[in-house]
Amino acid sequence: MHEADILVLGGGPAGGAVAIGLRRLGYSVTVIGEPRPFDALEGISDRVIQGMQGAGFQQALATLAPPSPRQVTWNGETNSANTERLLPRQAFDRALLQDLAAQGVTVMQGRIQRCQSDAEGHRVEVRLTDGEPQSCRANFLVEARGRAAPAAGTHRVRGTQTVSLLQYWQGPAAEPRTAVQSFADGWAWLAMRADGRRYLQLTVDVASTDLPPKRELSDWCRARLEQLEQARPFMADAEPTGEVYARTSTPVLCADVVGDNWIRVGDAAMAVDPLSGNGIFQALSSALQAPAVVHTLIQHPERAALAKAFHEARIEGLFYRFARIGRDFYAQDTQWPERPFWQARRQWPDARPMHEEVTPDQVSTALRPVVEDGLITEARVVVTPDQPLGIWHLNGLPLAPLLEAVRAEPETAPAEVLARTLGKEKGTLLEQWMRQQGWL
Ligand code: FAD
Repeated sequence: MHEADILVLGGGPAGGAVAIGLRRLGYSVTVIGEPRPFDALEGISDRVIQGMQGAGFQQALATLAPPSPRQVTWNGETNSANTERLLPRQAFDRALLQDLAAQGVTVMQGRIQRCQSDAEGHRVEVRLTDGEPQSCRANFLVEARGRAAPAAGTHRVRGTQTVSLLQYWQGPAAEPRTAVQSFADGWAWLAMRADGRRYLQLTVDVASTDLPPKRELSDWCRARLEQLEQARPFMADAEPTGEVYARTSTPVLCADVVGDNWIRVGDAAMAVDPLSGNGIFQALSSALQAPAVVHTLIQHPERAALAKAFHEARIEGLFYRFARIGRDFYAQDTQWPERPFWQARRQWPDARPMHEEVTPDQVSTALRPVVEDGLITEARVVVTPDQPLGIWHLNGLPLAPLLEAVRAEPETAPAEVLARTLGKEKGTLLEQWMRQQGWL
């Protein structure tokens, strides 16, 4: 029986980031995972690379291709201003396991077959890559198997059911590039590798699309791709190879994301529509603060409610933020307002704007969970409609006591009140900043 303080199920970006974070806090951590069973290529932006560097993904980052030009045809207009970094997921996941091992995390490569949990701990049965069975035990469990994680009952929120159909094509070697194009019943993401392999992906609505049986799927995809102007250069002198791979891409928010001795991170906690291209960024965002939650649950069980509230609020906040980014992008395309694909997505998850106008009467101070020295603790923060989790510091300056001091003296100029604590120059600057935020 293999034993560790913490078992992490799944070694993708979220599991990897949490494992390294927990190892840095001094825990013995074992990651159990196997690279994706299919060949996927995903696109990321530069800010994701920064997140991965911070998380310690050195060898995984080396699998990234240089930036490729990206053409987007959306709402009938074509834009080629952006670039995209292409990430081969199987090679990336494999290199990530090497990063984990290099940083002192025990890596067990294999398929997780069964997991039994109770208040005493967790027991996981694994079929190792060489075929040997292995049992593992730990007091704490991190569920990071992405969309493949058992849903543990229910999803609290579920977007319109969506599927992405990935068809591989092979043609002559070419300049790497990507393209996006919307069409009446969905949108396409197209990517070309230097070696001529092409990834042509159609994302469509499950309910309103009359999908054929599996054996006819390849022709069905081809017929739709042939109608897309952006797809032509990707199909020229090339032929489909292998079967079409279907991936669910429905947005989901899990009902339960944390307990006393377990936590869900990444797509296992919440997964967004791949349209926003934010999947890996969001998985990392949900994972980077999770080690503090786990550390608190283990070291300070008396603060369990606080730590759980922090993780729940953060996951929910991220889910709605990315869901609204997706909604606004869909809403920019007004060519097919009556088609079910566009109708459903341009108004989900709600009508709330991405950024709400903040007025002083909506701004308050309150006690909220925050991360301090690797643990969840409670502090007074400034809460606004835009920042429901609260803003604690600005450049190390706790903001709630300063805003409370200004509000306690409505007859005095805010800069004067702030100057008593910060000096004249900083007081004036902070007043200006608070006005810009809509707090005064
Ligand atoms: P994952 O990356 O899914 O990692 C989970 C890991 O657990 C995998 O390595 C898996 O093999 C392993 N695992 C699962 N079950 C088991 C098991 N039983 N035993 C052992 N190991 C197991 N994001 C982007 O940023 N850019 C894109 O272009 C993009 N395109 C996408 C296209 C589609 C169609 C979809 C559905 C998603 C896309 N995403 C994209 C989202 C992105 O893939 C995820 O958000 C991100 O990978 C989530 O990271 P994770 O670590 O939570 O889970």
